[in-house]
Amino acid sequence: MVVLPVPEALCRECRLCCRFTDADLLTPWAARPEGGASLPGPFRPPAPIALRPGTGRMDLPVLVCDALREENSRCGFWGDHPADCRLYPLVLVHRDGRFLLALDPDCPFSSREDPAFFVEFATRFREEEWVRLTPADAERIRPLARREDRPHYRSVLPLPEPGMSRSA
Ligand code: SF4
Ligand code: SF4
Repeated sequence: MVVLPVPEALCRECRLCCRFTDADLLTPWAARPEGGASLPGPFRPPAPIALRPGTGRMDLPVLVCDALREENSRCGFWGDHPADCRLYPLVLVHRDGRFLLALDPDCPFSSREDPAFFVEFATRFREEEWVRLTPADAERIRPLARREDRPHYRSVLPLPEPGMSRSA
């Protein structure tokens, strides 16, 4: 499985991930009402997850993924966590009628590597995981990917429609 290697020390300092102010923005798809067990394999954690009230930076109240281990600020499913978490700050969006992986510039790591680094990981995800999805999988994730897009996300790699040739 493709895991984008954001340095652990940076994440511990930043503490933005796995804590959310909006239940619909960058929360794991598996924790959303339309996600859960119906998601394709790469987007499903090994066990169900949910958001619970917690605290974020400066003790502000936030929603926290219940797979987060507060004692070490690590995901309890690390290595096996959902693709939308494994790829961040790459975000799977649906824009102008097609799926693509985009970069969220709000993550401090997004400016620490050059664009080729993110293209490489996006390409690995496309080759190793995305190509296994079916047209039915695409219909399940399309509405989630549509709502995930934000105007300031930078396009990194277009993805072919699942079940169709790459040039389609
Ligand atoms: S926003 Fe980026 S640096 Fe911060 S915790 Fe998330 S992945 Fe780590
Ligand atoms: S599944 Fe893991 S990586 Fe994803 S939000 Fe929850 S704790 Fe964070």
